[in-house]
Amino acid sequence: MEGLIEKINSIIEKERILVNEPMAEHTTFKIGGNADIFVRIANEQELVKLITMLRAENVPYFVLGNGSNILVSDEGYRGVIIEVGSLFNEIRVHDDNRIVARSGALLSAVSRKAMECNLTGMEFASGIPGTVGGAVIMNAGAYGGEIKQVAYQVRALTPNGEIRNFSNAEMEFEYRNSRAKKEGFVILQVTFQLLYGDRDVIDGIMRDLNMKRRDKQPLEYPSAGSTFKRPKGNYAGKLIADAGLKGYRVGGAEVSKKHAGFLINADHATGNDMYRLIMDVQDKVLKSSGIRLEPEVIFLGEFK
Ligand SMILES: Cc1cc2nc3c(=O)[nH]c(=O)nc-3n(C[C@H](O)[C@H](O)[C@H](O)COP(=O)(O)OP(=O)(O)OC[C@H]3O[C@@H](n4cnc5c(N)ncnc54)[C@H](O)[C@@H]3O)c2cc1C
Repeated sequence: MEGLIEKINSIIEKERILVNEPMAEHTTFKIGGNADIFVRIANEQELVKLITMLRAENVPYFVLGNGSNILVSDEGYRGVIIEVGSLFNEIRVHDDNRIVARSGALLSAVSRKAMECNLTGMEFASGIPGTVGGAVIMNAGAYGGEIKQVAYQVRALTPNGEIRNFSNAEMEFEYRNSRAKKEGFVILQVTFQLLYGDRDVIDGIMRDLNMKRRDKQPLEYPSAGSTFKRPKGNYAGKLIADAGLKGYRVGGAEVSKKHAGFLINADHATGNDMYRLIMDVQDKVLKSSGIRLEPEVIFLGEFK
């Protein structure tokens, strides 16, 4: 471990290398044991150098955005968590209605910047609490919009160590999936192509959508948003509610009474509480409807 920390320290300054870092502090579920090593990235060169070194040394690593779509186990993570977030979040606006954002920028910040510059297209994303990198991996979407519609170019580090610019078509975006997720790209930067619009109209749409979220979603509790993907022709929340599971609990983890698609950390839930709740809901919905819900949330570590 000491040797590894020294190697990381040759790339990243000491203040940004944390040892035994509780992952509950870095996930919106507020769940998760300690990561052996947690590193905060400040620029692209660091990110590329660090990943290249860890790959060469065969050290397990996980790239973390804002932690808004992951469930980390109570045992935490044996390896290096690489946080691509608030220190790597520059957003630049170009004359041609394009916005270039580092992968650690928050979607809400990109949406706000677009609005301030009279650019329309990002309104759907203003209430999604993820980074640009996480959003590209997941092809995040809401209210009829998705990243696929606005991503013009994605700069990524590929598994064989190449840094490449991918066009929208090359990213093979699908519902909550992408080539980047399937092949394990590390997202470095995204160029969004937007349209000229009216700032007040854009602002009005964003306010409206965020009010809808506050009305419908249990934002007062820690969660990872919709826990399951939407099954074709149906809604996970409806199937879960129809199975009579609103308010159903395992330990401190609960199916939200406000929106059954949200599994919430209602009262100091452990990773295993949440994991077992997800599995229970999956089983019960399968029995009641014949439909197998697929988790949207990404699992990190071992669960019982
Ligand atoms: C209250 C709430 C509401 C939500 N509403 C929505 C919604 O409306 N629509 C929606 O689609 N999602 C929603 N989500 C889920 C979540 O915000 C999105 O999936 C988001 O895109 C995840 O981004 P993140 O930065 O938090 O990624 P993380 O959770 O940190 O990571 C998710 C995945 O992306 C990978 N990743 C992150 N950054 C990078 C990078 N730079 N390079 C490579 N891989 C990376 C991680 O390894 C992981 O596999 C919601 C979540 C919450 C808590």
